[in-house]
Amino acid sequence: MLGKLFKNIVGSKNERELRKLAPTVTRINELEPQFKGLSDTQLRGKTGEFKERIAKKGESLDDILPEAYAAVREASVRVLGMRHFDVQLLGGIALHHGKIAEMKTGEGKTLAATLPLYLNALLEHGCHLVTVNDYLAKRDAEWMGGIYRLLGMTVGVILHDMDDQKRKTAYSSDITYGTNNEFGFDYLRDNMKFSLEDCVQRDLHFGIVDEVDSILIDESRTPLIISGPIEHSEDIHYATLKPLIVKLKEHQDRVIRSILNRAEARMREAKDDDKAIELLLLVKRGDPKNPRFLDIIAKEPGLKKSIDRMESFLSSQKSLHGLDEELYCIIEEQDRSASWTDKGLRLLSGDQRDAFVVPDLSQRLQEIDTDHRLNYREKKKMKRELEVQYSETSERMHAAQQLIKSYWLFGKDVDYVVKDGQVIIVDEFTGRLMPGRRWSDGLHQAIEAKEGVNVAEENQTLATITFQNYFRMYEKLAGMTGTADTEAPEFKKIYDLDVLVIPTHKKMIRDDYPDVIYKTEREKFKAVVQEIIGLHTKGQPALVGTISIEKSERLNKMLKKQGIKHQVLNAKNHEREAEIITMAGQNGTVTISTNMAGRGTDIVLGNGVPDLGGLHVLGTERHESRRIDNQLRGRSGRQGDQGSSRFYLSLEDDLMRVFGSERIASVMDRLGMEEDQPIEHQIISRAIEGAQKRVEGINFNIRKNLLEYDDVMNQQRKVIYSQRREILKGDHLKETIMDMIDELVESAVSDTIDPNIFPEEWNLGPLSDHMYNVFGLLVQFSKAEIKNLTQESLIDQLKHKVLDLYEKKEKESDPQSFHFLQKIAMLQAVDELWMDHLLGMDQLKEGVGLRGYGQMDPLKEYQKEGYNMFISMVERIKENSLRTFFRIRIAPQEQPSISVPKKEMVLSRGGNGGRSPVKRKAPKIGRNDPCPCGSGKKYKHCCGR
Ligand code: ADP
Ligand code: MG
Repeated sequence: MLGKLFKNIVGSKNERELRKLAPTVTRINELEPQFKGLSDTQLRGKTGEFKERIAKKGESLDDILPEAYAAVREASVRVLGMRHFDVQLLGGIALHHGKIAEMKTGEGKTLAATLPLYLNALLEHGCHLVTVNDYLAKRDAEWMGGIYRLLGMTVGVILHDMDDQKRKTAYSSDITYGTNNEFGFDYLRDNMKFSLEDCVQRDLHFGIVDEVDSILIDESRTPLIISGPIEHSEDIHYATLKPLIVKLKEHQDRVIRSILNRAEARMREAKDDDKAIELLLLVKRGDPKNPRFLDIIAKEPGLKKSIDRMESFLSSQKSLHGLDEELYCIIEEQDRSASWTDKGLRLLSGDQRDAFVVPDLSQRLQEIDTDHRLNYREKKKMKRELEVQYSETSERMHAAQQLIKSYWLFGKDVDYVVKDGQVIIVDEFTGRLMPGRRWSDGLHQAIEAKEGVNVAEENQTLATITFQNYFRMYEKLAGMTGTADTEAPEFKKIYDLDVLVIPTHKKMIRDDYPDVIYKTEREKFKAVVQEIIGLHTKGQPALVGTISIEKSERLNKMLKKQGIKHQVLNAKNHEREAEIITMAGQNGTVTISTNMAGRGTDIVLGNGVPDLGGLHVLGTERHESRRIDNQLRGRSGRQGDQGSSRFYLSLEDDLMRVFGSERIASVMDRLGMEEDQPIEHQIISRAIEGAQKRVEGINFNIRKNLLEYDDVMNQQRKVIYSQRREILKGDHLKETIMDMIDELVESAVSDTIDPNIFPEEWNLGPLSDHMYNVFGLLVQFSKAEIKNLTQESLIDQLKHKVLDLYEKKEKESDPQSFHFLQKIAMLQAVDELWMDHLLGMDQLKEGVGLRGYGQMDPLKEYQKEGYNMFISMVERIKENSLRTFFRIRIAPQEQPSISVPKKEMVLSRGGNGGRSPVKRKAPKIGRNDPCPCGSGKKYKHCCGR
């Protein structure tokens, strides 16, 4: 009721917005005859004219909009024979306003986007059109390219296998098409470059994200990562812990079997015996995917409800803990987490009591600090040991948790497949195999250990960003998709993007039948196959959506058995996928597709097909997210086509099992169910929607959480990247170095010299060590000189001495080399320490997670400690820059020759490892390279010490 009312309010707001745009559409239409009368050359001349009016007369893009859109429309008619529909003009205006235009599949979003892209490109800062895959980027750039070229604009495309030269050309075009991954990785890579000329991207000005929900929501849970191999890692833990976890599983399985026996015995006596429910709850907590358990639940629809109720009751009583005592570990399927009980801990630790308990770091550090029996050196040593112990233990605990998850929650051939000694992820949204992509956070290694394949080495993050933070950098961002409305609050909250629903060109006449629901999955698939046979015989094309490869395969086999010719879409090749999709509307075609495969290609109906009812879409399961279901439906009924859709569900579907509300079970109970008899009921459809909304909420929180953590890094990344750009520009290198010298000298003196005691009693040792270490400066004062020193004058004198060294260096080298030396010294320090910092932040994130169950808010801890780490990194950047600068000597007239070791970099999503390696093309002194100072020693034993 309220929902409907609310929708009316929202609906009318949308309509008001649309009405506001109507006069502009009318204006564009009025201009049409005038633009028709122009020759091609005159039409092209408009671009120059518009630019001039903006530059000279101060007109805004909004002033120019009607004419610019009229020009694009006319160009499109001439080049492509397509005239933008009025609704496409509306969409185009919404995009220009930085909104998300919801336009249904097949409404022509590709063409609509040309309008704002052209308009905004008049400012000459470049515009980006972001697509979901390379195939679409290329297709759309070529398809729409003619329009831009006729208007005298350039268009470029970024593809995965392009080199930097080509990328740079594409980015300098007026309009650039490319995928989210390429845009994001180029940004990260640019910020690792060693000269401005090597950077490929310009500033991020205007971006339109196509299939915006897919990119900004589905894909945003996994950040972009550039990584390289590291030396220290926890890889060894996986192999060594595996036998322990196997043992844990054996023990737990035995317990679970006995609990199940007891539960069944109890249930034979009385069905809703509280003790039986308690026992089943225990199974759910200890092995949520246990087949026998699932069987029991499926047979008794009301049971799940009772178990869940028992769980929330015990949890509110804080007595879950007591119940769990019988188990070794607890698996929370909903949030994919694992932990062990005291019993489990005893089994895991054996005779090493502290192997799985982290020491309380802050308390122990404080104890050491305040222990007066220890001297400075001893304290330092003990702190170091404590840190080592802490990090080793937390690595071990983390590895154990990941192993547990891999055994209990990740199924071979469901969540991943093992092929050629590799663990390959099956994408949970598209059902595609994702070779090269790795689960992050050690989970992938854990599964590799479980499957007995080679555990790949963990890579260190060299640069990382989430899509959220990448796209938020655009001065203006817009998006388009067929399905945005359900996610409107998230778009608003995270990206500050409003959604405007654009009406369809022709009325939508697709019939969406209510869901039917079966008791078991087997019955459901039987019914689906029957339905397909019926359609096939009739000649009506069918598109069958599944939520995983496994289900696709199952249908594939069933249809083969029946001799029904069909196509299966889980190809890794977008081009081939698009081809199959375009054929899906032909007479008698049966296409099985995982939900989002082949997005961006529309299905055109074949001859006579409309009379048969158009394309029929069969969903074989509901997805966690309503939006994904809507996408599947949206494949049918494009541009006023005939069409229909229906979803088939069963009580055994994951969504029902894990998140199904109590209502579904009780309704099913009430209505009663018989073999092969489906139930079709409004209440059920509503209950399912309720379950989906709940999961959407959970997933939103996961994404929000990721973002909150990334926001901490984002601030730091902005600072570092902008500093880095300043250095690359190289305008103020000398001032920067001077400032660094001042600050370093000041803090070195104030850290070591106590102004309240007589200078004669100063211990100058540590200070002079430091000065020598950084600047190569020998601090020597005669007794008489020391007597007259103050802290101030000491600082002054040291600064002067360092300045002398600087000037001497400057005189000895030619300006160009000198400039280069300053630049490289700073860049190297920034990069090296920033990457160390990234690693440190990763470990911190893990660490605060482990400390999480204390009283502290892990995010707050992360922010606080992250900030402290950042500040201390900045200090070290100064010191390291200066040390490198003062230690490297360059002979006059000679370019400092700094050798360039090739460091492998790996680009990946949400984890480490994988895709095409990219070589680092930057001067970096390898630790084992000969030192550039010419000493003949290795760099690490000489200046790089
Ligand atoms: P969407 O991205 O919105 O799903 P597309 O951009 O792929 O849709 O376009 C779908 C189809 O509609 C394409 O085949 C395209 O040629 C056609 N189309 C789009 N706009 C027009 C138009 N103004 N006139 C004629 N055909 C159009
Ligand atoms: Mg499209």
